[in-house]
Amino acid sequence: MPTYEYHCKACGEKFETMISSAEKNKVRCPACQSRNLQEVYGFNVIKGSSQAEVCQSCPAAEKGCRLAN
Ligand SMILES: [Zn+2]
Repeated sequence: MPTYEYHCKACGEKFETMISSAEKNKVRCPACQSRNLQEVYGFNVIKGSSQAEVCQSCPAAEKGCRLAN
């Protein structure tokens, strides 16, 4: 199951959640229960990009690969 990262526009909370794509519209902020969320696109959820796989196995990833930040 993919991990999605969200930024809550209501209170500023940032959190990650593991959900299926069908549940994306049910996500709420764990801090304030708001649904006013901005999805943060990380390197592991880039769709249709081979860069994601390259980056995850990249030896530089743990040292701060720019794609991971
Ligand atoms: Zn919130």
